[in-house]
Amino acid sequence: MLFDSALWIVTTQVAAAMAAAMANQFDISSYAPEDVITRDVCIIGGGATGTYASINLKDRGQTVVVVEKEAILGGHTNTYTDPETGKKIDYGVHSYSNYSVVRDFFARFDIPLSKYTFGAKHQAFVDFQTGEQFPEFKPSFDFSAYSAQLAKYPYLPTSWTLPEMVPEDLLLPFRDFITKYSLQDIAFTIWEYSWGCGDILGQPTVYMLKAVDQPFVEGLEQGLLTTARRNNHEIYEKALEELGSDALVSSTVSAAQRNEDEKVKLVVQTPKGKKLVVASKVVVTMPPKIENMQTLGLDSQEKAIFEQFDNSAWYVFVVTDTATAPSRSPPLPGMYNLNPTPVDGIFAGWYGGPNAVSMEDAKSDILRSIVRLRDEFGVSSTETPRFLACNSHTPFQLTVPTDAIRDGFYESLEGLQGHRNTWYTGAAFLSHHAGPLWNYTHELLPSIVDAA
Ligand SMILES: Cc1cc2nc3c(=O)[nH]c(=O)nc-3n(C[C@H](O)[C@H](O)[C@H](O)COP(=O)(O)OP(=O)(O)OC[C@H]3O[C@@H](n4cnc5c(N)ncnc54)[C@H](O)[C@@H]3O)c2cc1C
Repeated sequence: MLFDSALWIVTTQVAAAMAAAMANQFDISSYAPEDVITRDVCIIGGGATGTYASINLKDRGQTVVVVEKEAILGGHTNTYTDPETGKKIDYGVHSYSNYSVVRDFFARFDIPLSKYTFGAKHQAFVDFQTGEQFPEFKPSFDFSAYSAQLAKYPYLPTSWTLPEMVPEDLLLPFRDFITKYSLQDIAFTIWEYSWGCGDILGQPTVYMLKAVDQPFVEGLEQGLLTTARRNNHEIYEKALEELGSDALVSSTVSAAQRNEDEKVKLVVQTPKGKKLVVASKVVVTMPPKIENMQTLGLDSQEKAIFEQFDNSAWYVFVVTDTATAPSRSPPLPGMYNLNPTPVDGIFAGWYGGPNAVSMEDAKSDILRSIVRLRDEFGVSSTETPRFLACNSHTPFQLTVPTDAIRDGFYESLEGLQGHRNTWYTGAAFLSHHAGPLWNYTHELLPSIVDAA
């Protein structure tokens, strides 16, 4: 009994000490002056929208700091440099919509754009799980029946503002929507342009109509843009250089205090130790999965929203020694494609899964698929394909269940804009298209600047 009460006193003392330490971490006087970063806006996540927001907020006279967990900016944009030739290989984001916001952002960094073309001279369709080839298969690019469906929902490309009574067609599993409107001919091409989105046939149709939306279809028909130097990462390198000490890379927020009428305080773990960011406003651009968001000190309204998101898995890679020269809708997880690059003998590809797949499992499966492929193509080689780069883009395609969409999930999500001095942009708030996302962010910025 005596032992029990002694243990209780110790436990209470430990809890009290922890609570004091937690409160202390927001106390400016407990930090060296150089470890307190005071800014108008703190942007969390330095990918496509985070970089765009940081630079453009600066251009609007705001002081900013961006917190990015990776050592570089750019999010889904990956560019590999071949050490022998110096040639660049974009193996993440390839192309951009021909929008003024895209042209202006690249022009600001003096990066010329050119027309995007898909470089492969030949395409072979192969089941990566069995090696079986489909020489007769020719995907359709006739979007007319699909576009007629898209035309019913003109609000989808620019927002998640759905009618109060969400149209039942938007909630159908996509496989049933395909059947209902006889879209089987275009289904492969839609799948191909929604790579990374996981089990597209089982998802509510609204997610597919956002992944392959009307502006994207028009972009395919009218032409997309890419960087003339074939180096899509260059803009992020230049942005990082310009942001200098305003970019905290390899850094994450470990705790936050966000009260309505006070400055926001964020404890940030950086390679140079713990910093306290004191900001009037926060812009969240990282995927708002509960795992990412919980360090922001969520209230019950925010927690109830963010904990509903599920996601898919997506990996991108560069390989060599494949001894192949070589896509159908595969069961996932599985390899989507393997493409030649500007460097002979080097291939780039994408691999996806409906949920979480470990990097190790993804890499082993990619190697097995490549070996199966060369067996099927009759190429004899003892070489083991070698990874030159492999990156995870997980979590990708944040989704919520059909009933949540019907019950107004996205109205609640949009209702968070400005709540507790916090704004949001990024794919979960619109769609996975960089150009439209920059437009969305561009339109959001004035309200962030104007907020008290
Ligand atoms: C392989 C691939 C190819 C694509 N190709 C194209 C294309 O050709 N054209 C196109 O328009 N779109 C393309 N997309 C989609 C599009 O680029 C993305 O949807 C867009 O980049 C989303 O921008 P974002 O800012 O929401 O997310 P991201 O660009 O992913 O940025 C989010 C950032 O947050 C960071 N982060 C995550 N967690 C934390 C944390 N806890 N703390 C701090 N930072 C964190 C991430 O590291 C990342 O940098 C592609 C996507 C992928 C994955």
